[in-house]
Amino acid sequence: MKIYLSDTLSKKKKEFIPIDHKNVRIYACGPTVYNFPHFGNARMAVVTDLLVRVLKQKYKKVTFISNITDIDDKIIEAAKEQNVTIGELTNKYHLIYNQDMESLGVSLPTFQPKATDYIADMIDFIKILVDNKCAYESDGNILFDTDSYKYYGALSKRVMNDQKTGTRVKKANYKRNDNDFILWKPSFKNEPGWDSPWGLGRPGWHIECSAMSKKCLGLPFDIHCGGVDLTFPHHENEIAQSCSLGNGNLKPESFCNYWFHNGFVTFDNIKMSKSLGNIKLVRDLLKKYEGRVLRLCLLSAHYKQPLDFSENSLKQFKNYLHKLDYFYNVNFSEEYEREKIVNNNYFEEFLSSLFDDINTPKALRILNDHISKVRNTTLTEKKIILQSIFKSLKILGIEKSSLNKLENDKGEIMKLIKERENARKNKNFNLADELRDKLKKMHIEIEDTPDGTKWFKTK
Ligand SMILES: [Zn+2]
Repeated sequence: MKIYLSDTLSKKKKEFIPIDHKNVRIYACGPTVYNFPHFGNARMAVVTDLLVRVLKQKYKKVTFISNITDIDDKIIEAAKEQNVTIGELTNKYHLIYNQDMESLGVSLPTFQPKATDYIADMIDFIKILVDNKCAYESDGNILFDTDSYKYYGALSKRVMNDQKTGTRVKKANYKRNDNDFILWKPSFKNEPGWDSPWGLGRPGWHIECSAMSKKCLGLPFDIHCGGVDLTFPHHENEIAQSCSLGNGNLKPESFCNYWFHNGFVTFDNIKMSKSLGNIKLVRDLLKKYEGRVLRLCLLSAHYKQPLDFSENSLKQFKNYLHKLDYFYNVNFSEEYEREKIVNNNYFEEFLSSLFDDINTPKALRILNDHISKVRNTTLTEKKIILQSIFKSLKILGIEKSSLNKLENDKGEIMKLIKERENARKNKNFNLADELRDKLKKMHIEIEDTPDGTKWFKTK
């Protein structure tokens, strides 16, 4: 069976042919770790996790790299506000991100490189760009000269000449061209910085992905993933940097072969934003719903399409999965039969929908069709269909046993937090402190925020 994937660069659905069949290589732009991940952030992690699962059905080895941005102006700001070091802040939220994604059934990437561990690689990268005359210095910054890369705009299909003459915001006077972007900038006073040929400074955001994907995967690699909002300028800039390392302009394909972009997430048809106060944190949703319910919701629309969710849709997904739990109680076969499938046409049908550009709505329709067939058939056929259903649920990551340890502990944690909230309301601060200590012993750190108590595991 062939695998097909949509590719943003060619705007086509293409057969997936890996560069090296023995090792499929994928890169995804990971989170900037300075706050709790919201449901929109989780979509990239969940759809990419499914992509890896699907590829593993065909290829033995899939190397999946997803970076952690642990240096950035927002991080510097947040650390200052919270009066903690940048390392303390980023380590905490890195851990929280991984825990929340684990609750959604997302496996850890093969490797999660942290930007600050690759500063030397970024400096070497920028040096080459300067030597190749693709970068210039201005006001102490090193900027990438987007006019030097003739394919700039190829991914996002922007016509760059129109932009130059258009009525967009006035260009910053230290830039030769509006689209030029910072590779390196100076650090002042208490800002974190690293020694470089251009003085004490720190990298811009875009350069980290180019440097880390090159170092961790080698160029070109197979698939680059990320949210659709990163297409421009972030991914366009990654291409420009990575394709300007040699003599002359290399084509975008010399960076990676497929661009896999997932759509936005909205709540009640409204974009989640801080100013509207409608940001749904994964952590808060997990208080009400199992991780597999949230995961099913994130997979219910095709990954390329926008995804809208509501309290109502989450309730429906919850009921749906509970209904399926019935099958786990059917005493029809030995456990191994659930896992071991030989020539199961039902499963082949299900898998073919995922091989066709990770078409989850179609996969779920096929799954439902199989479910409807279970009751009115022979015992032998019933076993085959049930085997397929179990295996299908497992690939999607929404099977019953997908509850992880954290989720199992959640009941007890929530109980203690509730007791502590009550103690605080009743001004019984001794009891509140005792409960906090008790949670600490369970490696649970709590934080009182205007939106209620937040908790996270410290280990
Ligand atoms: Zn990136």
